[in-house]
Amino acid sequence: MPRSGRAAPVTEPRVFWINGPVVKARPPGALAMKEAVYVGEERLAAEVIRLDADAATLQVFEDTTGLRPGAPVHASGQPLAVDLGPGMLGCMYDGIQRPLEAIAARHGDFFATGAQAPALDPERRWRFEPALAAGTQVAPGQVLGRVAESAALSSPVLVPSGSSGTLAWIAAAGDYPVSEPVARLDLTEGGTQEIALSHRCPIRTPRPVASRLAPHTPLLTGQRVIDTFFPVAKGGAAALPGGFGTGKTVLLQTVAKWSDADVIVYIGCGERGNEMADVLDEFPRLEDPLTGRPLMERTVLIANTSNMPVAAREASIYTGMTIAEYYRDQGHAVAVFADSISRWAEALREIAGRLEELPAEEGYPAYLPTRLAEFFERAGHVQTLNGAEASLTVFGTVSPPGGDFSEPVTAHTRRYVKTFLALDRTRAQARFYPAIDPLQSYSGYTAQTERWWEAHGGVRWSSLTRGMLALLEEQARLEKMVKIVGRDALPAEQRRVLVCAEIVVESLLRQSAFSASDRYCAAAKQARMLALVEHLIRQTEQLVGAGADPDRLAQLPAMRRVLRMGEEIEGDDEAAFERLTRELTAAMAALAPGLGGERVTPP
Ligand code: ADP
Ligand code: MG
Repeated sequence: MPRSGRAAPVTEPRVFWINGPVVKARPPGALAMKEAVYVGEERLAAEVIRLDADAATLQVFEDTTGLRPGAPVHASGQPLAVDLGPGMLGCMYDGIQRPLEAIAARHGDFFATGAQAPALDPERRWRFEPALAAGTQVAPGQVLGRVAESAALSSPVLVPSGSSGTLAWIAAAGDYPVSEPVARLDLTEGGTQEIALSHRCPIRTPRPVASRLAPHTPLLTGQRVIDTFFPVAKGGAAALPGGFGTGKTVLLQTVAKWSDADVIVYIGCGERGNEMADVLDEFPRLEDPLTGRPLMERTVLIANTSNMPVAAREASIYTGMTIAEYYRDQGHAVAVFADSISRWAEALREIAGRLEELPAEEGYPAYLPTRLAEFFERAGHVQTLNGAEASLTVFGTVSPPGGDFSEPVTAHTRRYVKTFLALDRTRAQARFYPAIDPLQSYSGYTAQTERWWEAHGGVRWSSLTRGMLALLEEQARLEKMVKIVGRDALPAEQRRVLVCAEIVVESLLRQSAFSASDRYCAAAKQARMLALVEHLIRQTEQLVGAGADPDRLAQLPAMRRVLRMGEEIEGDDEAAFERLTRELTAAMAALAPGLGGERVTPP
């Protein structure tokens, strides 16, 4: 939004109407739609969300208590933007990228007003290594040089998306603060442009990429129910819907901790402050199981809890997404975790209500689906402007009131995500975690990730998991019959199905978030567990066919060890899995009268 071309001095707009976070000012002449502005003497951060002939409507990202009609509105000439550059990893920001520490230090709590603390440390110097020589022709996205942002992450410094020309000057290798120029371009279109390690970037417009590619690799979460049964591809989008207390937050945080993304952006969006306090407290102390480095070194936390201003909550998911895209554009695999999409939608509803807009379904504004689509569509497996492959994966929790998945936020979210991990109250009440209901959940990435699994030990992965999910459907059907006629009345083959389904549920789907050996299950271990359960199922078929009693098979001590193998076998210890398979095979064979106690050969 350049200021040039505008008519000379206009009267500064002044506030004349205040309704919570929504404020109107007039005359609107100097303001532009979506422009970031500052309101009042305290310079409260705000954004223009509507422009009429006689008034501008603003949403204010801070508490407006104490604001009075007549307060001046200062234009910034820029859309709402964040600062992108080295130093964000390990930081905790509010919904408009103000460092939480700085706000808290100044105000002692989250209710900061007008705090303008810089998002990136202006003093800190970063080691810059140039990659090009002056005189080189450069195009958007080209790597000018590199900065090591953390021990694990090298960040290329890129030519901005809209710029091409000749590299007129580039800084020598050395230590530079984020705002000092390290390169200057003579632009093809005329003029020059200085490039520093950091730049400002609007949050509501997706950052450009060269092309979008089909996803092909799973984002490994270490959760069997996700990776093995309902995978999320790198570049995919997933929703975790579930009623209050079904374990969404615990699961989302578990996945955020252990997933194999290079960079994690965790957005605590409208959930309870104490939960976010737990995250802020816990994350800095956790180690990355893959690298042994502190997890915070690859994490950016954004917190806009329920006690913080509602408009900043609306903005927080775009702030998080823009930070994620910045790391994606550097060629990394990035994952965004948002808890919760429902609380974000409620912020949208509250602001729309104060605008006196005509509400659509359940009071949400008519543009709810568009906004949800815009958010989830920023996920993707892409080719960046410089040709690198990178991904941005999104997970969002959804908390439908009463666990009703037909309500608008859940129903619309379902349209834009391909993995749907439905959390179920009955399971959570029975303390079965993760409380994902396999019959209501699905993944649209199974076909795309099949080759990856085949290449990583998951022999016949998709056909095995499909078979087991079919077994679970059969279980649900049979359990209805059991309620009527009793289990003993079922034929042996049907009782075998129940026994096998129970094993799939207990050994593969159940996973403890608190067991050191089970909270993260590596892909290789998942493949072994899947193969073992498959072998067990095949054996029961043979043995029950030969006259064995399925319920006696279920009583075998070896069978009970299968149920606990996630916790009892550390890592993907091949010998331990083979031992268990042999024991199980022998113990089962001994129970089959028709086979005279012979051993059945393992596969
Ligand atoms: P939601 O976000 O769906 O409201 P939470 O994630 O806060 O629910 O979970 C509610 C409670 O359920 C937690 O405080 C915890 O006691 C229990 N819980 C959830 N997930 C697990 C898990 N994987 N293992 C053990 N307990 C869990
Ligand atoms: Mg929660």
